[in-house]
Amino acid sequence: MLKPEVAEAIAAGEVIERPASVVKELVENSLDAGAHRITVEFQAGGAELIRVADDGDGMSAAELGLAFQRHATSKLSVIDDLAWISTFGFRGEALASIASAAQVSATSWDRRSSSGARIEVTDREVAVPVPVAAPPGTVVEVRNLFGKTPARRAFLRSTRAEASACLRVVAEAALSRPDVAFEVRVDGRRSLGAPGRGGLQEAARSVLGKAESADLHAVEWTGGGVSVAGLIGPPEVARASRSSLVLMVNGRRVHQRALVAAVEGAYRGLLPVGRYPVAVLDIRCDPSEVDVNVHPTKREVRFGDESRFFEAVQRACWGALQGLGPGQLPLPSGGRAGIGSAAGGGSARAPGPWAELAEELPLVGGPGPVAAPSEPLGAAASWRYLGQAHNRYLVVETSTGIALLDQHAAHEKVLYTRILGRLRGSAPSGATPAQRLLQPALVEVGPQAVAELAAAEPLLERAGFELAAFGEGTVRCSAVPPGSRLSELPQLLAEVLAGTQEVPEGEAGKQHRVAASIACHSAVRFGDPVNPEEVARLLSDLADTPGGITCPHGRPALLLLSETHLLSAFARR
Ligand code: ADP
Ligand code: MG
Repeated sequence: MLKPEVAEAIAAGEVIERPASVVKELVENSLDAGAHRITVEFQAGGAELIRVADDGDGMSAAELGLAFQRHATSKLSVIDDLAWISTFGFRGEALASIASAAQVSATSWDRRSSSGARIEVTDREVAVPVPVAAPPGTVVEVRNLFGKTPARRAFLRSTRAEASACLRVVAEAALSRPDVAFEVRVDGRRSLGAPGRGGLQEAARSVLGKAESADLHAVEWTGGGVSVAGLIGPPEVARASRSSLVLMVNGRRVHQRALVAAVEGAYRGLLPVGRYPVAVLDIRCDPSEVDVNVHPTKREVRFGDESRFFEAVQRACWGALQGLGPGQLPLPSGGRAGIGSAAGGGSARAPGPWAELAEELPLVGGPGPVAAPSEPLGAAASWRYLGQAHNRYLVVETSTGIALLDQHAAHEKVLYTRILGRLRGSAPSGATPAQRLLQPALVEVGPQAVAELAAAEPLLERAGFELAAFGEGTVRCSAVPPGSRLSELPQLLAEVLAGTQEVPEGEAGKQHRVAASIACHSAVRFGDPVNPEEVARLLSDLADTPGGITCPHGRPALLLLSETHLLSAFARR
């Protein structure tokens, strides 16, 4: 049998991992109590003091006495399918867990009985509540967290990292509840103030900073019983970590790998590897479709049909990104500070509190993509080509190291960007000059594709194709985009026709897929010999290609061995 205090410590560890977990539970309680204004203070990363004050309903003296008992909750009566949308808590575990790991006091003014009381919990001993006068609402103070368990305390990270995690919890709460005013004081200094006037844009401004939030685009999408609303950033405000990707399900912050992948998928080909979009999205659905009780701290939810949510998020982001042609994308260049730095964007931007939130919580769910370092490509034109290896990789000397390029992926990226620019009408050269075939080719594509050919035609024509239905399941092709490999024409046509048919992401999605297919079937193959002139052109094109070096499928196309890396690998440093 476990001793009660051991069992308690284990249970506490489940909910309270670090100061930020305390902040999260207390803020959620305040929201549950109907607060309109929540003030959070912490000192020494929250290890010394966490203080959360709200103007919510408050607790009577009797309720205060009960609140710290395990499984005492006022919210049990509302547990049904819908309970979790209206309240965060329902286990009655948080305050008990916090009190078993720290010294806690709570002062509350109960609106119903117009009486106030204060209670202290020291060494898990709950004292008798004493009557006090207090402003309406509740103040909970948590001191010396894990003070009695040095092993747990030693597990905490630096004060700065813990403070950042605490701040982050409140920042995310402010984004999920723009109707509530939030204020955070870190070691006495005001670090965040969200006015609580109701708009997400305004909440985002107070959290992300003025400059960055001004660039955000509204996302508004509904379909299949799922709606997605919020803000996403254009590629040029991307960050070096996932810290600015905030996803909520019915207003509840989740860290769901699949949904993050859906957002990032929408930016495919727009962001270099190692850069992550800025997005604040709330995904709303019928609460019966999600199970929130998967994870004790409720970071993960389970969907009845995850793919539908994935698709909804991706479509929503596609829709919002639609207006942003490659012409508006930033040109990566050697000297640009934004690349690889956490701040992102130009140095003139005044960062919001978010900029301090370097830390990101680990994602939960299936395996995720592996990030590789990104490298500014502006200098690529001056790189020196050394040779080709295995007919697959280009070996290049850069100003400070050695680069290996996947020849197909790199070329694909250049072509993709160019083709997409033409399809979106933002390229300077206008429409694609078609390459006429000496003899039209008859290609079997299936009756479905032929039936829908008419609808796909304008886009395909703009891409350089000239197609006509030719009997059952066959099209006649008399022109193709220049550079396409004729030996791959059947696959190319099948792909572009499929890409224009099913249209989960709207016009932008079609353009992306058509451009990606043409690029793939035009780019030099993985396995073909190349000549130095072609490589020189590729490198100079790469320097002019915005959006960094991922192929349209999101794979990295460049491996950079920096001088530092090489010296250390050869044990010279
Ligand atoms: P839960 O939130 O799961 O019910 P907690 O341990 O977090 O459990 O809180 C226990 C109870 O204390 C809550 O059910 C609620 O009645 C009361 N409580 C906690 N914090 C507040 C607050 N800020 N304002 C009003 N009541 C509160
Ligand atoms: Mg609670």
